[in-house]
Amino acid sequence: MAKRSDFEFVTEPTGEPGPGEVLVKILYLSLDPAMRGWMNAGKSYIAPVGMGDVMRAGGIGRVVASNDSSLAAGDTVVGMTGVQDYAIAKAKDLIKVDPRLAPLPRFLGALGMPGLTAYFGLLDIGKPKEGETLVVSAAAGAVGAVVGQIAKIKGCRVVGIAGGPDKCRYVTEELGFNAAIDYKSEDVRAGLARHCPTGIDIYFDNVGGDILDTVLSMLARRARVIICGAISQYNNVESMQGPRNYISLLVNHALMEGFVVFDYTARYAEGMQALAGWTMTGKLKAREDIVEGLETFPETLQKLFRGENFGKLVIKVGE
Ligand code: NAP
Repeated sequence: MAKRSDFEFVTEPTGEPGPGEVLVKILYLSLDPAMRGWMNAGKSYIAPVGMGDVMRAGGIGRVVASNDSSLAAGDTVVGMTGVQDYAIAKAKDLIKVDPRLAPLPRFLGALGMPGLTAYFGLLDIGKPKEGETLVVSAAAGAVGAVVGQIAKIKGCRVVGIAGGPDKCRYVTEELGFNAAIDYKSEDVRAGLARHCPTGIDIYFDNVGGDILDTVLSMLARRARVIICGAISQYNNVESMQGPRNYISLLVNHALMEGFVVFDYTARYAEGMQALAGWTMTGKLKAREDIVEGLETFPETLQKLFRGENFGKLVIKVGE
């Protein structure tokens, strides 16, 4: 678990934006499970955060000074801003958003990277068809909640797996999932057997570990297993627990495929348009869990790994 002593808070001048750069006042920071992986040395889909570097984070903020013709002071932008009050960033690496469309934290959740993760992972790999049964883990979280709602839009029967009665009630009563299994108090296998009597056509995996193994043993023929994340394994300092029941892929002629949302950068506009459209028509709902204060970062990050966040976890940094 990342802890306070892994970080240092320092104060230094912001500096001036160079050619092609802007100075951004950060308003909200995105807290993501992936941050834990970015703190590990070794090969991954992105370079680790170096010792002494600003901790990497997505954020939304307001341009306060611009040295690029594409952005002006006052514009609202989303990008990899880092865990800080102000960021200097290349204008080409930022996406300008319209702050009148939604509350700002939503651009870090359902209308941002987690929403796009759900959109591309589900539609490109999961290829949901009407009448199919989809199971999603971390179902009340930033990615999971969007996955389940898009699957409902596509006509699937949706079963969420989440921790605790409040999250289970939220996904069924507010988000319209067909059923939810509380993995902290119920037997997941029995719940899946009850809610997925013809097997699981699509599993969107956010957690890995034992839940992945259980789902693998209950796949339908030609199932698709989308490896989005494995939060149950990110704090393991020794080996990760891999899938034991992988032979189920052979038996059921099934597919298991991983992906990283950053692979889809060229198609973000398409995804954002779809997510915004569903939001406007009330088909895509979301909630954010907002914690105040940059200085809370180490403890706020831990909330993700304890399941203490309810919705997209963000830190409010400024106004
Ligand atoms: P989130 O779901 O909003 O928050 C994490 C949730 O994971 C917690 O609230 C908790 O919910 C659950 N959790 C924590 N520890 C767990 C454990 N040991 N076993 C089972 N569940 C556990 O986070 P998110 O941002 O939407 O991310 C969800 C997953 O997507 C993560 O694995 C993340 O790394 C992945 N992701 C992947 C990509 C990509 O490009 N591939 C992009 C974004 C996110 P409960 O209370 O329900 O346990």
